[in-house]
Parts: sequence; structure tokens; C-alpha cells
Amino acid sequence: MNTLKASRISTAAGRFAKLIWRPSHLVRVHASAPPLTRQISMDAQSVASRLSNSGLLRSQGLIGGKWVDAYDRKTLKVYNPATGEVVADVSCMGGRETNDAISSAYDAFHSWSKLTAAERSRFLRRWYDLLIAHREELGQLITLEQGKPLKEALGEVSYGAGFIEFYAEEAKRVYGDIIPSPLADRRLFVLKQPVGVVGSITPWNFPLAMITRKVGPALACGCTVVIKPSELTPLTALAAAELSLQAGIPPGVVNVVMGNAPEIGDSLLASTQVRKITFTGSTAVGKKLMTGAGGTVKRVSLELGGNAPCIVFDDADLDVAVKGTLAAKFRNSGQTCVCANRVLVQEGIYEKFANALSKAVQNLQVGDGFTEGVVQGPLINEAAVRKVESFIEDAISKGAKILHGGKRHSLGMTFYEPTVISDVKSEMLLSREEVFGPVAPLLRFKTEDEAIHLANDTNAGLAAYIFTNNMQRSWRVSEALEYGLVGVNEGIISTEVAPFGGIKQSGLGREGSKYGMDEYLEVKYVCLGNMNSN
Ligand code: ADP
Repeated sequence: MNTLKASRISTAAGRFAKLIWRPSHLVRVHASAPPLTRQISMDAQSVASRLSNSGLLRSQGLIGGKWVDAYDRKTLKVYNPATGEVVADVSCMGGRETNDAISSAYDAFHSWSKLTAAERSRFLRRWYDLLIAHREELGQLITLEQGKPLKEALGEVSYGAGFIEFYAEEAKRVYGDIIPSPLADRRLFVLKQPVGVVGSITPWNFPLAMITRKVGPALACGCTVVIKPSELTPLTALAAAELSLQAGIPPGVVNVVMGNAPEIGDSLLASTQVRKITFTGSTAVGKKLMTGAGGTVKRVSLELGGNAPCIVFDDADLDVAVKGTLAAKFRNSGQTCVCANRVLVQEGIYEKFANALSKAVQNLQVGDGFTEGVVQGPLINEAAVRKVESFIEDAISKGAKILHGGKRHSLGMTFYEPTVISDVKSEMLLSREEVFGPVAPLLRFKTEDEAIHLANDTNAGLAAYIFTNNMQRSWRVSEALEYGLVGVNEGIISTEVAPFGGIKQSGLGREGSKYGMDEYLEVKYVCLGNMNSN
């Protein structure tokens, strides 16, 4: 921290306010796209003004408890995906700043890890209280930089804060063991101790919750963290970090750097002071990090891509299946790694289900996440829309049929119509890869065995859903699915009290629940010898 130049340090969030209020900065990303209505733009602006008054808007990185610029003062722009407007210009950091952050996390580790569990618990509880007290502003910030409808964003704040509350409690339950000794003069103990400094790399689809479910257990165990949020959504991370300071969490325990992702990643990987990398994001980047962690033999937790099957059996309750599929597929406009990616429907219920789902999808209101009644926001950027378009083109060229949607929304830019597409086959891109958009591809199957085979025929293994009223089948199929989480007659199953994580190439480790603590603890065996001598 002593390497930080005073001139880089500031407590003002000025850059944000300036950008929001100077019309010349309101640039559109896609000049050729149809203009959005004025209504949308004004909503976002009034939200931004409220946010900049709240003090939670930060544009600099957080290192050792100080808000700092990048050494070269480079910045990067954060866009509102619904309008293409620039909402902020934040510090664009790299290796040097990351090394500073690692040093301060390392320094802070010595004292943070020595606090009692009860003391750490109280800090976390205060942080949770502040996150909830600022739920409205944080929700607005999420909608502003990520695009999801405000109601969903508020739900994310409650969900995300829930990890801090849960781990505030769990901090007090890090039990060790006493092992019956095979030798009379020895006593054998197992201690659980914090791993050390943790590098936490997170994506844009849950700008708050993906951070809290890593940082909550890390801090509870006594670790300190360097957070690298997505460059697309750093503002929520910075606001949450500001609240951690307000909660009294000591300087250096929580650090945030953002900017050049490969450079930041490489610095975290190269450092011998960083003992663990926890990552949520693409499988490709996860594999790179896992390989890179080998250089210093770091521990890794990875939450990577999924290819979730949603299996609807003939004996399912149609309404429950439609409602559940809608939730599993269209939440966050299809941009979650647990979103249903393939909807496998048994032939006896196929037509009825396809009609009912298409009808339900017609009612999903698309628009700016700040507009009342909107349940489908924009995709994160135009590249995401192009990816969806290319998957749809591929499917149609191979014989699939659009039942609803199937093209960009009339709002243009990043908006895509919620889509149902039938006659999808295993060889199509829609079945092979994550579409990460509002598209429900329907595949037909005949038997339970065929459904299980289709469902497991992928390298991914994160979430799966089944809809059936047959209890034996619900157990049988849940056990046969090669997935880390299974929803039976439910489309949204994530909660801080249950373990979340994948098998196969969907990742390593679990987040949430008591199991989430294990990721940040080392197991130490202590042997007391010569215990019978006086
Ligand atoms: P997504 O497609 O969801 O954006 P990514 O895996 O590209 O998934 O991004 C997830 C997170 O990983 C983001 O914070 C991103 O900046 C970061 N990231 C991307 N490339 C690297 C890298 N080479 N090293 C470290 N982090 C990276």
C-alpha cells in the first residue's frame, strides 16, 4: 500500500456523476440501430442521479481501504445495455494495481485471520444489514449496468446479501475434529484454518450475487480477497465494497481491481501470496485459470458453463411444467449458467406443452428493466445478440421451426424476442452449446432412458430440471442425471443454504451452504506425542 501515490487516491465518485450529467457523453454504442424511446433514456438518467447522490457510486479500484486510480489513469466505459448510453467511466487497472491489491490483502490476512469467529461474524452481519438497507440503490445499479428488470435486480440483492448473512452465521461453526489415536501416548487433532489470500473473478450476469457467494465464505473463514468483477458490470461490485468499508471491515480485507482481465488474472496466478482462485465464468477462461494455477499449486473453485436439460415427461402437470420452464429459461433473459438450454419433451405431451409454452412466452413483456411490467430486459451487448441469431440460423437451416419470436425485438439493439423453437435436434448448436439468450429449444423424446441419454450427452454438468408427477421417476432420473443440481417440478432452485456447483466440465467445488466453507479452509492435522510421560 505504501507504493500507492497519494494523487491516485480519492474518495470522490465524481467521474460517474460527470458522465451521467453531460449529454455529450451519452453516446450510443450502435449508431445504425433504431433509436430507443425517450422514455427509456429518461428513466435511466433519473435513476443515475439518485444513485450519484447516494454515495455508492464509485469509479476507482479499492486497494488497502483506499479508492485509487490506475497508475496510468486509464479508464474504461460502462454501458447501460438497454440504451447503449455510457453510465460511467471506471479505472482500467492491470498487473501493477493487482500486485498492490495482493500485498494489501496479504498484510490484512495476518490480523483478519486472527480475529475470533464471533468478531468476523459481526463484521459480516453489519455488511449484510447495509446491503439490505441499500437494496433499492443496489437493485437500480444492477439494472443500470446489467439490464435485468428491476424486480429481478432487487431479488438478486436479497439473494446476494443472503450469502453474507448465511456466512456470518456459518463463521461460528468451523469445527475441527479429535481423532481416536491408534497409539496410547498420542492425541490427534484436526484444525481448520483459512486458505489465505483469495483471488475472486466474477462475471456480469449476477453483478452482486456472484461476488457475495465467494467473498462471504472467504471472509467468514478468515481469508482476505482481491475481487475482479466483470468489466461490463463493475459498479455494483464497487458499491458493495464501499458498504463493506462502511460496515467497518478493515482496510485490505476486501480489495477490488478491474480492467485488463488477462493481466489481472496473470498477476493473481503468478503470485505466491494468492493461495486460491475462485472463478465464475466461461469454461474456456476457467480452463486457462486452472492450468495457470498449476504454476504455484493454488487451489481453484470453478463455476463454469452449463447446458441444462429441462425434461418434461408425459405425466407432468402441464401448468407446473410451463411455469417452471418459463422460470428456468427466461430468468435474466436466459443469461444464467443454470438456465434451461434444452427443453426435452416426451412425445405424448409435446404438442400441448409447445402450445402452452408459446402462449406463455407471448405474454413476456420486453423492454428497459426500469419500465414497470417488463420481465425481459436486453441482452448484455450486441455480441450476445449476434450469438443468439447465429444459433437460430443454424437450427432453422437444419430443420427447426420457430413457434414464437425468432428475431431481434422491434426495440432493436440488444433486445431479442423471447423465442420458442421446435424440432430441435442434438446436432444443432442450440443443443451443443449454451445459447445464453431468451430461446427455448424443444427436443422430442420417447422413453425415459432416451431422455436421460440425451440429457447426459454433453460435457457440461451444472443444472438439470425434470417435470413429472411420478415420485419413483423423480428419484430415478435425479440419480441418473450427471449434474450438480437437479430441480424437480421447480425452475428456480438456487439459494444460499444449498450447495451450488457443477460436475464434468461445469466446474469444481461448491458455493453456498455449509459446503461452501470447505473451499476456503485448509485441514491441518496436529499430533501430540509422548502424552503419557509425566
Ligand atoms: P463471460 O462470457 O460470462 O463474460 P468470461 O469467462 O469471459 O465469461 O468472463 C468472466 C470473468 O472472467 C470476467 O470477470 C472476465 O473479465 C474474466 N476474464 C476473462 N478472461 C480472463 C483471463 N484471461 N484471466 C482472468 N480473468 C479473465
